[in-house]
Amino acid sequence: MTSLTAPRQTADARRTSRPAPRGTTRPEPARRFPVRSAIVAATLAVTAFWWFGTPPAAGSTPGGALVAIAELMGLVASILVLAQLLLVARVPWFERSVGMDRLVSWHRSLGTTVLLLIVGHVAGMIVGYQLIQGKTPWGSLLTLLHSFADLWWALIGTAVFMAVGLSSARLLRRRLSYEWWYGIHFTVYGAVALTFVHQINAGVHFVGNPVARAAWLFLYGATAWTILWYRVIQLIARHVTLGVHVAAIVEEGGGHTSVWLRGKRMDRLAPRAGQFFLVRFLVPGHLLTAHPYSLSLVPTGDHLRFTVGALGDHSSSVRHLKVGTPVLLEGPFGRMTADRARSRRVLLVAGGAGIGPIRALAEDLVNAGRDVVVVHRAHSTDGLALASEFPAAPRLRYVPVTGRRRELGYDPLVPSSLASLVPDVRSRDVFVCGPSAMIDTVVSSVRALGVPRSAIHTEELSLV
Ligand SMILES: Cc1cc2nc3c(=O)[nH]c(=O)nc-3n(C[C@H](O)[C@H](O)[C@H](O)COP(=O)(O)OP(=O)(O)OC[C@H]3O[C@@H](n4cnc5c(N)ncnc54)[C@H](O)[C@@H]3O)c2cc1C
Repeated sequence: MTSLTAPRQTADARRTSRPAPRGTTRPEPARRFPVRSAIVAATLAVTAFWWFGTPPAAGSTPGGALVAIAELMGLVASILVLAQLLLVARVPWFERSVGMDRLVSWHRSLGTTVLLLIVGHVAGMIVGYQLIQGKTPWGSLLTLLHSFADLWWALIGTAVFMAVGLSSARLLRRRLSYEWWYGIHFTVYGAVALTFVHQINAGVHFVGNPVARAAWLFLYGATAWTILWYRVIQLIARHVTLGVHVAAIVEEGGGHTSVWLRGKRMDRLAPRAGQFFLVRFLVPGHLLTAHPYSLSLVPTGDHLRFTVGALGDHSSSVRHLKVGTPVLLEGPFGRMTADRARSRRVLLVAGGAGIGPIRALAEDLVNAGRDVVVVHRAHSTDGLALASEFPAAPRLRYVPVTGRRRELGYDPLVPSSLASLVPDVRSRDVFVCGPSAMIDTVVSSVRALGVPRSAIHTEELSLV
């Protein structure tokens, strides 16, 4: 039985509320190793394929050696692009093993490697053929384009890869709205298709080698099918089966709004407190992007609740949604769940919209018999959304910490301040959710206070 106060909810939700299935709180050990190993194994396999498919004579001239190395770069770039796409294809096993935030971060770091490999591939081919043919780089490029018609498509595809890569570079990313960034990013599927054609039709390792061609086609086909299955077909099938829609919109104060969703047999999604969904409201203005929002209540019955802080266009407009609006849900994702706490005592720190998942997590942990302290950081008392849902209770202490740093004259989350708020912090697991700057401060403070890294669990409210 929870000791947290029941929130304002729809009469409908109250009638159908029942506890989430017990199985949803099972521990899930980290299984990143197999995913990482699969990427390394695929890279080694393609390198072996290149090695055995490259005639020894290729290395006898500088031009031949350069072309051969450029071919290897192209092959490795291709396999890593497929890995990148699979990492964000919403494959449930990947999500459970690695966690979406880390998958996105791997996807991002692989992106840099892929771009460098693509640049190396193109430059190596041009300079290699220049050396072989004794032409200028420009002349060598024109000869290549003239000899292989598919290279034009590859060139366009390469330009798209560059645009996608540049749009994700921090300097530019900060200047682009999410929608523009996402739109540019989406074109990468076209770039993959455009560059694929020249590999099969002009790649020396594939021309005249039907087995290699079939295997390469299979790899691309399987990747395309996986993306289609998890990102489109399953999503539509789920929507038809569950019929998720907005059940209520509740203003929570401090610029926060709770959105209650209802659907049939929502327990089949097995959501857990601390997790998030990618939410797409099926009304004009919301159709083009799915936004990540975390559960702000332990899921019960056929209802889910998200609490949204008004930050930008999308989050500010959810309060105008109409009851009955259909919703596409992807997820649940995320590994910031109660079963990760190893200690009986837990400290939860929330800032901004981070209070939603922290509120749900607090309930789950108190239900599991843990001793919970919630530190809720806000600029003012008005910003303490959901505060009324944390009453004084035997295993729960709610500590609101308000005021801007410059007004207070100090940072209430530095080690000395945090230690005075939570003297036994060292013996606690620490969960932090909120803006990245706050997470960094809390993590370094609790580390300085002696909390081991393995006992610190964070969720940043940004995936890009
Ligand atoms: C794992 C996770 C859980 C979250 N949980 C909550 C929550 O419970 N409550 C809440 O209020 N907010 C939550 N957020 C943040 C929320 O997703 C963004 O505030 C929201 O998407 C901003 O959209 P906007 O158009 O209103 O603002 P914008 O001004 O367009 O964007 C503000 C910030 O959000 C990022 N963002 C915008 N759209 C998306 C998108 N579709 N996907 C990923 N990032 C995006 C932008 O890059 C920017 O950093 C969560 C974010 C993540 C990553």
